[in-house]
Amino acid sequence: MQENSNISNILTSRTDGNILIIAGPCSAESESQMINTAKKLAVCEKIKVFRAGIWKPRTKPGNFEGVGKIGLKWLKKVKEETNLLTTTEVATPQHVEYCLKENKAVDILWIGARTTANPFSVQELAEALKGTDIPVMIKNPLNPDIKLWAGAVERMMKIGIKNIAAIHRGFYPFEKIKLRNLPKWELAIEIKSLFPEIPIINDPSHIAGNRNYIKEIAQKALNLNFDGLMIESHLNPDEALSDAKQQLTPENLIEMLKTLNFRKPSSDNSDFINRLDRYRDQIDSIDFQMLELLSNRMKIVEDIGKFKLTNDVTIFQLKRWIDIIETRKEFGKSIGLDEQFIKKILQFVHRESIRKQSEIMNKNKDI
Ligand code: PEP
Ligand code: MN
Repeated sequence: MQENSNISNILTSRTDGNILIIAGPCSAESESQMINTAKKLAVCEKIKVFRAGIWKPRTKPGNFEGVGKIGLKWLKKVKEETNLLTTTEVATPQHVEYCLKENKAVDILWIGARTTANPFSVQELAEALKGTDIPVMIKNPLNPDIKLWAGAVERMMKIGIKNIAAIHRGFYPFEKIKLRNLPKWELAIEIKSLFPEIPIINDPSHIAGNRNYIKEIAQKALNLNFDGLMIESHLNPDEALSDAKQQLTPENLIEMLKTLNFRKPSSDNSDFINRLDRYRDQIDSIDFQMLELLSNRMKIVEDIGKFKLTNDVTIFQLKRWIDIIETRKEFGKSIGLDEQFIKKILQFVHRESIRKQSEIMNKNKDI
């Protein structure tokens, strides 16, 4: 059995590259399913935490909505029969109350994506957790709003929860894509930058929605220095009562973990450090040159703004803008730059140019 001391620091940033692996079924379905899955997963020493949803948020009514609080007894049994810690999703204060009451069933709680999107619910959960020291993991909201995600983290911090992690499970895609959810890795990086002390855990199962892409997503998370992975696993994935397409058998999950490259966050090899320093010096120098060039460009933009003002000419010139995009895209391509990247940079620069010229033409700065 794991000692309590392991629980209090289970959600810490992994400076040692010792990634936290959480695995288990999307939903608890029966006692034997839970125990058998947990026993198979526990064979792999990388897996430290067993997950299972017992209250399932389903988009439409009439689907399997979870086994409810009986699942807590099964989680307790998992703990007794394996050395795994346990985690489940809570969405209401009553869920929290049940988890806290069922002694030694759940070590870590997680807040689901649909709940994080609602500050009222998050606040209610925070209040139900007041005075406890149970670790809490917070999934990103369905919509890519970093403030909602950060707000949920802050609400937990404010009521005194010390052990917090963020789970990156991707964002609702408004267009059909190959994955179930858009990863938007930059938002995961942003939450880590806002709260450097809290670990960020990747959930490749809910990003993928399909077991074929899980490995690739998990590897990308490891490449980006994530602190952990949460992966769904079912004894018979095709028969799972929820998220059937994205679950892996325990055996396949363990095999996959063996093939992942668990990169180290840094290296103390002096050749590596010296060379990286030299590369970084070069990058620094180029960045400062880029800023100087941008500043020169903006000065000319201002002169043009004044010139247009005195000649009563509009700021936005469609033909010129189309010409800028086309010529830069073509040149960029010829020197190995991605077209979309060039377009995005130019749009940023152009937006700033228009803002500058508007300041010159419009007296009221707020419009
Ligand atoms: C889950 O983990 O099974 C789940 C419901 O996740 P999410 O809140 O990310 O949709
Ligand atoms: Mn699921």
